[in-house]
Amino acid sequence: MKAIVLFSGGLDSLLATRLLQEQGVEVVGLNIITPFHDCSQEAADRAQELGIELVVRELGEDYMKMLANPRWGYGANVNPCLDCRTMMCREAKKLMEEIGADFVATGEVSGQRPNSQKIHQLMLISRESGLGDKLVRPLSAKVLNPTAPEKDGSLDREKLRSFTGRGRGKLVWLARKDYDIKTIPQPSTGCVLCENSYSPRVRDMLKHKAVPTVWDARLIAAGRRLRLDENAYCVVGRNQKDCDALDAAFASPNRSRCVLLYPGNYMGASVLLVTDEAPEFGDENPEISPKMAEYVETAGSLALRFANPEKYRQPAEGPTARLHVGAVVREISLVENPAVDAIRIVKEADGPKKNAEPVENAPEEASENAESDDDFFVYVIPAETSDDAESLRVEELFQELQAQFSAYKFESLKKRLEKAEGAPLSADQIARLKERVNSSDFDFTLPIVGKFPENDESDAAE
Ligand code: SF4
Repeated sequence: MKAIVLFSGGLDSLLATRLLQEQGVEVVGLNIITPFHDCSQEAADRAQELGIELVVRELGEDYMKMLANPRWGYGANVNPCLDCRTMMCREAKKLMEEIGADFVATGEVSGQRPNSQKIHQLMLISRESGLGDKLVRPLSAKVLNPTAPEKDGSLDREKLRSFTGRGRGKLVWLARKDYDIKTIPQPSTGCVLCENSYSPRVRDMLKHKAVPTVWDARLIAAGRRLRLDENAYCVVGRNQKDCDALDAAFASPNRSRCVLLYPGNYMGASVLLVTDEAPEFGDENPEISPKMAEYVETAGSLALRFANPEKYRQPAEGPTARLHVGAVVREISLVENPAVDAIRIVKEADGPKKNAEPVENAPEEASENAESDDDFFVYVIPAETSDDAESLRVEELFQELQAQFSAYKFESLKKRLEKAEGAPLSADQIARLKERVNSSDFDFTLPIVGKFPENDESDAAE
């Protein structure tokens, strides 16, 4: 029996791997690099310790497309965790099929992350990734529905775990007590999409570019981002590492239109000016438009604003910079301009907030705003029995629980819809909502929030 484990090298994926290994499963780790998160080195170190093969895959432009328009919206910052996890699981499914593995496992723990790991969200990821019951969460398996390898007996469900919630102590305890793991991996700092300091820059990028690219993503961490207007922004390096990143961005064959200012006779940082006014890459004799000349002058003044004034005032002839335009390098004079002090570093850009823009064919709000339903999710696992009376009793119990749950779900939805509408629902809307909730094809696993559908064709859940 062979399984792919989504493997970050963190404690959760490490324990998930060990739980499978102790049932004789051959594990292949899959580490996924995104434009905003790379933990491949930690994963490689840990995989070596566990003696498993590690495959590293990268999500690039497809990830950026998803980030611009995540079906399930953003989390607390610009982290589209549900879509991101789904993409990762799809990648794992591909690998599973390529190497003939039997199932995929992750280190997810039910309820560990309030925005992406509630039970219904875990089920949603299973479904949307196409893995269905071939996606196993060994750390929470016993609180989730049985998966294919549990059902066919390849995995002993009793030996899997039933962890829930955010606490890490119980996982550390398991690692120390049962697996004698001495070096417990530190909690991951996570991807930058979750960080408050990065989010405004990402929002700025999303606000001004319909489909940003990996190239745009690399600039997020490469210095101070200053927006000149709706069509242009500068990135000013803060240190040598930033300046190297800007050089690399300028040298990239996949770059957007941009020019690079490199300090000439003063001590300062490189400035990358990104704008559609910039000539095409590779142009041997680039013409600079009057608008572009304005941008360059402003970028030059910004370069001086962040330079060391004691150093750049030394040259009698005034500060100069090398302007890289396409394949051409020109020397230009820079002018101090106090007006550029008004250009603020992007910190509070009013880009897309959490799910501010409803996505077509998706719920208007994502898990971020959903109330917790976990306490009310009831999973009835009918016992395998040939006793008709027992089957009937289980069926009745199931019907009863479903009725109770429908009542709760109705109240919960009504409350949320009224909040979204800003007014009580009409009698007609209440009747329609009741009909929906009681219909047999109603999907209880989806968080359903947002405005009441205008007509019966649109479903609050879809
Ligand atoms: S924290 Fe980042 S890498 Fe992790 S699931 Fe969320 S968006 Fe993806």
